[in-house]
Amino acid sequence: MADNSEAKAREAIKVTLDVDEIPKKWYNIVADIPGGLPPALHPGTKEPLKPSEWEAIFPKGLIRQELSTERFIDVPDEVREALARIGRPTPLYRASRLEKALGTPARIYYKREDLSPTGSHKPNTAIAQAYFNFIEGVDHLTTETGAGQWGSALSSAAAYFGMKCTVFMVKSSYDQKPYRKYVMKLYGADVYASPSDRTEFGRKTLEKDPGCAGSLGIAISEAIELAVNSPNTKYSLGSVLNHVMLHQTVIGQEAQKQLAMIDEKPDKMIACVGGGSNFAGFTFPFIYEKLKGKNDARFIAVEPESVPSLTGIKSGRSRYDYDFGDTAGMTPLLKMYTLGHDFMPDPIHAGGLRYHGMAPTVSALYDKGIIDAEALPQDETFVAGELFTRTEGIIPAPESCHAIASAIRHARECKRLNKEEVIVFNLSGHGLLDLQNYATMLGM
Ligand SMILES: *Cc1c(COP(=O)(O)O)cnc(C)c1O
Repeated sequence: MADNSEAKAREAIKVTLDVDEIPKKWYNIVADIPGGLPPALHPGTKEPLKPSEWEAIFPKGLIRQELSTERFIDVPDEVREALARIGRPTPLYRASRLEKALGTPARIYYKREDLSPTGSHKPNTAIAQAYFNFIEGVDHLTTETGAGQWGSALSSAAAYFGMKCTVFMVKSSYDQKPYRKYVMKLYGADVYASPSDRTEFGRKTLEKDPGCAGSLGIAISEAIELAVNSPNTKYSLGSVLNHVMLHQTVIGQEAQKQLAMIDEKPDKMIACVGGGSNFAGFTFPFIYEKLKGKNDARFIAVEPESVPSLTGIKSGRSRYDYDFGDTAGMTPLLKMYTLGHDFMPDPIHAGGLRYHGMAPTVSALYDKGIIDAEALPQDETFVAGELFTRTEGIIPAPESCHAIASAIRHARECKRLNKEEVIVFNLSGHGLLDLQNYATMLGM
């Protein structure tokens, strides 16, 4: 009985690709944003930033990508090899057991970005960024990290190319998440609690508020200051910028192939959003298809109720305007949905979703009505994470719980309407280093 239907059913549990199917090009959505993307502006002159003005913090290869309007950009062989070594292509799973628990007629799939060695999608861009720095002779990278996912990813990518890495970790996480700190140190990075006494901005912040718990905005300011003042050193950002979204599109391109292999067309594609990179990587290749009339999916960005960069536009909490990416105002001005660069987020458990702004590309698509957004309460996301753990067997990151909770809402709606739908979400990371967050939420 080894006929086609049986093979298909088996495939539909776990859809895999071979190593040689790691995408050879990244997809740059800037080429397809109707009306183009508003340029980044110089923080002093408010004029569009010139390529040379980016050079204090980024290597030329990444600046070219940041400003590129070309639709497809080659992935270097060295980067494809490194992506293979961290487990790409990642499988696409059918959430059959979750479907059964919900009693929904919807078919739910998820992309396994939790399977990378550091546990999230972030190595996809960390590897590319480290590579383009390495080939221009940079030997030291600086960055910030909130919960620690980005710091871990960049530390491992820097180690891969034999570079030094300095990470400013938001103080509240530094104190509460010691394991992430150990991960970064094992990869050879220097890790400092931010605000720190290593930079002028850190010292100024500590003078004003010695007990300051820190924020991503403050940590970014410190990492940039150190990069600008150190030899052979550049800065790396884990989300928000165009080149970061670009590198993540390997996720969506793989998912396109995988869904095609099982003859599925997505009705809803769902991902959580902090700065927007896993959402972008997952959906942009499908948005390209949709703009060409090749699918009719809805794209849903899910954020926490307490950090509503996108959905806050309706209540006046956020705005679509030029703002800084950091607290000190050292970054270029980016046109984005923002809660304001001095926004101090609630200490929610999904540390990766606490950023005040949203990627300019994701922002432009939201402004044009090409993507949708939802805001979910924290409790609901943890209940969803618990159900996912018990049915699918994977403990998701608190950030990813937002995508899961939204997928569950939509699957329940399918049940109510007795409607078949294909719901695909991105499992951006696992939660095995976030157990303290679960313990607090579940009252353990
Ligand atoms: C960092 C992170 C996020 C949020 O960042 P995006 O740039 O919006 O993707 C989501 N999930 C996980 C697991 C993360 O580490």
